[in-house]
Amino acid sequence: MDAASLLKAAASSSNLLTSGEATLAARASSCLATSKRAPFPMRRAALGRPPLLSRSFSSDVNDGFLGSASKRRARGPIMAAKKAAEGGKRDEGKYKHTVDLPKTSFGLRANAVVREPEIQKMWEDNQVFKRIAEKNTGGSFVLHDGPPYANGNLHMGHALNKILKDIINRYKLLQNHKISFVPGWDCHGLPIELKVLQSMNQDARKELTPLKLRQKAAKFAKETVNIQMKSFKRYGIWADWENPYLTLSPEYEAAQIEVFGQMAMRGYIYRGRKPVHWSPSSRTALAEAELEYPEGHISKSIYAGFKIISPPPSSNGLLEEFFPNICLAIWTTTPWTIPANAAVAVNSRLTYVVAEVHSVLESASTSCGGKQIKLGSIFKSGKEKPFLILASELVSTLESKWGMKLVVRKTFPGSALENCRYVHPVSGKECPVVLGGDYITTESGTGLVHTAPGHGQEDYITGLKYGLPILSPVDDEGKFTEEAGEFHGLNVLGAGNDAVTNFLDEQLSLLMEEPYKHKYPYDWRTKKPTIFRATEQWFASVEGFRHAAMDAISKVAWIPSQAENRIVAMTSSRSDWCISRQRTWGVPIPVFYHIDSKEPLLTEETLNHIKIIVSKKGSDAWWHMPTEELLPDKYRDIASNYQKGTDTMDVWFDSGSSWAAVLAQRDGLGFPADLYLEGTDQHRGWFQSSLLTSIATTGKAPYSSVITHGFVLDEKGMKMSKSLGNVVDPDIIINGGKNAKDEPGYGADVLRLWVSSVDYTGDVMVGPQVLRQISDMYRKLRGTLRFLLSNLHDWKPENAVSYDDLPKIDKYALFQLENVVNSIQESYENYQFYKNFQIIQRFAIVDLSNFYFDVAKDRLYVGGKFSFTRRSCQTVLAAHLLSIVKVIAPILPHLAEDVWQNLPFDHVMEDGSIAKFVFELKWPDLNGKWLSIPADDVDFWNQILELRSEVNKVLENARIGKLIGSSLEAKVYLQAADGATASRLQEMCSSTNDADALHRIFITSQVEILTSLNDEIISNITYTGKYSNTRIGELWIGVSRADGMKCERCWNYSPLVGSVIEHPTLCARCFSAIDLQPVSAAVGVS
Ligand SMILES: [Zn+2]
Repeated sequence: MDAASLLKAAASSSNLLTSGEATLAARASSCLATSKRAPFPMRRAALGRPPLLSRSFSSDVNDGFLGSASKRRARGPIMAAKKAAEGGKRDEGKYKHTVDLPKTSFGLRANAVVREPEIQKMWEDNQVFKRIAEKNTGGSFVLHDGPPYANGNLHMGHALNKILKDIINRYKLLQNHKISFVPGWDCHGLPIELKVLQSMNQDARKELTPLKLRQKAAKFAKETVNIQMKSFKRYGIWADWENPYLTLSPEYEAAQIEVFGQMAMRGYIYRGRKPVHWSPSSRTALAEAELEYPEGHISKSIYAGFKIISPPPSSNGLLEEFFPNICLAIWTTTPWTIPANAAVAVNSRLTYVVAEVHSVLESASTSCGGKQIKLGSIFKSGKEKPFLILASELVSTLESKWGMKLVVRKTFPGSALENCRYVHPVSGKECPVVLGGDYITTESGTGLVHTAPGHGQEDYITGLKYGLPILSPVDDEGKFTEEAGEFHGLNVLGAGNDAVTNFLDEQLSLLMEEPYKHKYPYDWRTKKPTIFRATEQWFASVEGFRHAAMDAISKVAWIPSQAENRIVAMTSSRSDWCISRQRTWGVPIPVFYHIDSKEPLLTEETLNHIKIIVSKKGSDAWWHMPTEELLPDKYRDIASNYQKGTDTMDVWFDSGSSWAAVLAQRDGLGFPADLYLEGTDQHRGWFQSSLLTSIATTGKAPYSSVITHGFVLDEKGMKMSKSLGNVVDPDIIINGGKNAKDEPGYGADVLRLWVSSVDYTGDVMVGPQVLRQISDMYRKLRGTLRFLLSNLHDWKPENAVSYDDLPKIDKYALFQLENVVNSIQESYENYQFYKNFQIIQRFAIVDLSNFYFDVAKDRLYVGGKFSFTRRSCQTVLAAHLLSIVKVIAPILPHLAEDVWQNLPFDHVMEDGSIAKFVFELKWPDLNGKWLSIPADDVDFWNQILELRSEVNKVLENARIGKLIGSSLEAKVYLQAADGATASRLQEMCSSTNDADALHRIFITSQVEILTSLNDEIISNITYTGKYSNTRIGELWIGVSRADGMKCERCWNYSPLVGSVIEHPTLCARCFSAIDLQPVSAAVGVS
């Protein structure tokens, strides 16, 4: 501000000028002519100069909270003071004690590996979570934890899952909700049983009783729970760690038996012989969720002909002309199921033909397209070729596949074949042709399906319709039983398969054999193929409550919304749930069998009796108590007629009962839960099993809303695996790996920040590069907070300037802050945390670091300790600190708490108490006043900011051309074509408020608004630019060297420097600042 405008300002609003400024202005006006002296030698910023506009908000070790732009621009007073303190020239340090340097104990470096555990201990020692969660008055929010399996160390999937839950819980906590988060673990099941068995040698295994195995398994599970719990705690997860739920605890097991009992009493539990997924390698039935379909499975597939012995009863000579050598052509990928064949199914809607085999190409029998195929002996020369029945659409496909000419002799619909009879190729029995469903297609095969109800779900259903026998001559190990005759003892997936194929060929039934690549279910634990096999199992009849389940699904909020399609598809199409397993480590199916009749005994009384025993003694009681004690009194006398069952429940029944064992029983929780949040694979796992048990017994879904997240992949989108060496370990992210350079310890907050940054509704990626970027963002955010803390070192809330008195720039800053808080709240409410990450990043870098903080440094450091502009700025900074710390706290709790523990003032809450911990704060209420600045002003500020970027470009050119060094050495000229814009800019130049002055906003020493471009000044200006905008028209920008001399204290240039005898090196503003702050009384700065 030059002397003239200073005077003008003084006249118009002396109350906003300090007395020093007014005095100095008056004095200056009289000696303006003599004030022109040679300018100070040009001083350049000590560091290199990256292009002004391409810089990002980077921090360096010395000066992290200042952007690089600030280093160049506002370094003046700080460097002068520092240099003086280090013993530089005496003159340079003359005013250093009057400069208000930032000061804080809050480190630029997080030192998270050490600091985070300290913060966590502080929370624990002070019971912070428990106290706040109970004290909150806004109603409860129940997020029910899906139990991870108590086996092995945690991986990134666990970290993603639990941190998402924690972010939500902590947000709800700030929203004044009561939170009770009970962490759970799934403790039973085969993997743990196998771990125990693998840890023992052969001899020890022989000694192993079911009870010993169960004890070892329980011990293993509990130890794993402790290891995993420690990791979860280190992630900063707040939960009721002292009272987790374990599916092996007696009260849990009792509740699960209660759920089973209620389902049984409602008629939803039955015993049946049914084909189930059976794992020969684990010797147990498997649920859908326990299967995987690896790439590259190849089955031996065969085409076979089953000889027809009698035509369809009412076909009027449909096939007679082709007898006796006419066959049904079938295709199967499981030749070993042929002995269990009970029918051949056709689709009534497809068209079938009788085809005559005309010629066989000899070459076809060796190889075809590189595939190993083999034609059956029946096609060898000299043998009579049979007529074949197959689907019309497949004739040409099979011609080329078999390498032969097929001549169609007759065409008819599938329905015409019903009850035609053929000879079973192995047993020789007579079997029927039946009508199957739409599962019979012409995508592959022959259009006729070999039907073995004991080995396939669709076959089973068709079998029920026709009353076909359910044959399954295969034992637990996957070997043929005696029932399979000559194949007895052979492994169906190995020698058995070959033996059946060879047998068919000898019988001249085999048409062709070829390898076939397709999806085939494997046991997800042993990684070995499974089979479909009918066994006596216990089932939950999903059919009985499917309608209610579908209805409940439609009432749940599914996030993302596509998830509803997935659960609908899986629930609507699923078959009955096989809930029994032939294993030891689990909750027993509480049923007795009559020794002679094998009839199961399952009544309300027996169930209640067992439930009470289990609730007291745990499910081990089933193994160590005799049958007569496990039976209620009334059955004591006939107890010897019964034996207890040996099946255990599917572990999905365990975890699927958690709503009953936890939500419905623990204080502070409720049924249904507000939210379930798990990986997308849980649509067929926990989301589903919980839904089914809950619907079957209560008629309601156990959750009001469900969030699903994707899987964690490496940076390239590849699945993580040990063999690829691309596994990212959450523990190493936090604590660092062996090589500190490649694997630095980032701390839990960086891991959490990563979780918040990804759109978890799909698969997410992580790796060293991603983590470096996240860590960079973390440091920037920490730098922002450090800037706020360090410039509030002398702040007292009572110093706050009232909103109405704030300069426009400060009101605008609060407007932006409030908009950001508003957007962040919206993203939290919608569980879209990645949006928060983007909003915070932009806010910290663009709005704060590059603009508000950059401009604020001048008044904070050299504006004068008690000056109005410094106080108003601090008022704004304090508001920012309080809001930012709250909105980041759910994601970065350690950082937020670290800030809070370094807060230089006490924060008094509404109830008059002082907030000692950051989570004692409440989510900020939106401040309507801050948001209410006129739309016109908002527009104007947007334009000023755009103009500022254009001005910066011209300044940068002037710097490159060596006209100026620091931007404070420059004077900016503006000329607006539009009169209203010109006067508005002029108003800002002559602002009564130093903070709003345009030269402060540009961080230059002066700004002058020219009335026209014909001015002779323009001819001397070589650095120019333009800014245009549809609303304010075109603006011309020019840059020259600033007028006057450099002020020693603030480095701004002013014609007034030299006008005060006592302080010949100071500008007017600095004179007034030190005038208010006498040298002798000044507080030293560090
Ligand atoms: Zn100054």
